[in-house]
Amino acid sequence: MYRLLKQEGRAKRGEFHTVHGIIQTPVFMNVGTAAAIKGAVSTEDLEGIKTQVELSNTYHLHVRPGDEIVKKMGGLHKFMSWDKPILTDSGGFQVFSLASLRKIKEEGVYFHSHVDGRKIFMGPEESMRIQSNLASTIAMAFDECPSSRADRSYVQASVERTTRWLGRCKKEMGRLNGLEDTINRHQMLFAINQGAVFADIRIEHAKRIAEMELDGYAVGGLAVGESHEEMYYILEETVPHLPLEKPTYLMGVGTPANILEGVERGVDFFDCVYPSRNGRHGHLYTNNGKINLFNAKYETDGRPIEEGCGCPACRRYSRAYIRHLLKAKEMLGMRLCVLHNLYFYNTMMEEIRDALDKGCFAAYKKNKLEKMRNLQKE
Ligand SMILES: [Zn+2]
Repeated sequence: MYRLLKQEGRAKRGEFHTVHGIIQTPVFMNVGTAAAIKGAVSTEDLEGIKTQVELSNTYHLHVRPGDEIVKKMGGLHKFMSWDKPILTDSGGFQVFSLASLRKIKEEGVYFHSHVDGRKIFMGPEESMRIQSNLASTIAMAFDECPSSRADRSYVQASVERTTRWLGRCKKEMGRLNGLEDTINRHQMLFAINQGAVFADIRIEHAKRIAEMELDGYAVGGLAVGESHEEMYYILEETVPHLPLEKPTYLMGVGTPANILEGVERGVDFFDCVYPSRNGRHGHLYTNNGKINLFNAKYETDGRPIEEGCGCPACRRYSRAYIRHLLKAKEMLGMRLCVLHNLYFYNTMMEEIRDALDKGCFAAYKKNKLEKMRNLQKE
């Protein structure tokens, strides 16, 4: 159940009640692809860096270790020892981007596993069964994410199929939630809006799926090659046609600036691999922009990554030490950088919620963007 607490322009401040606790929005979900955040980050670590929602990947967990095994182990929450909300994606995005030799039919997609080449079929019902076995808090509908370069007629046909698939997802989720041996019988389902960069197709689709009464609504297929301006334009056109009283999720986005722009356009949920991936490469977010710890000037820099940061890396270690760890390829170096970056994102979301509560989001956004612009060059 979503409660809209406050609005400033189109920006929403909300609370999403789930069987695994309340999610304060806007929120950034921390991406743990194969039920772990890359960079040796444990669920115990997540508790110390303000993580509200962990995101796991249906395709990866289906291929390895297998969702039946996760179910046998009591579901993802027990398996990875995390009792807060988990969102699983539908597997669709990976099937379309990672798997080879895929064939899209009305019933679903045939493809080969990227791990062992084994032939797999996934359609709406299979995706729902896998996510039900994983027992996540929020499941995502199985959709096709057409390329941002796909032509209009392809996108139109694809979106219509995605709508039919959503009907099948909803029906199957209802059936699974009614079964005795389902681990999370309160699993929720989010729909996904598609339509590439065609605003009219997006709007039509948004209206169709809004009528179908899902628990939340995602905007998918953005940040896949179009410009930031195109992405913001699509959000401006599409989000007003999604239900205000349900959470809105912008999938796979993005930089701190993208997030601030998304919040302004009414987005509640975000996820992105940037903070963890950049952290593993020594690229760190600070309130003065991004810094690259491999830069020689940090060799004898005794300051923390960011003065005043409360993350486990900054509370104890210097830039010089972490730089040394990264150069020596010590796992601890990556881990500390990933922790700092996730903490930075999670703290920014906390600031955004606080600014919305106080009715000063517009001023906060302007100030934050100006400060972060300083160091972008590094
Ligand atoms: Zn820090």
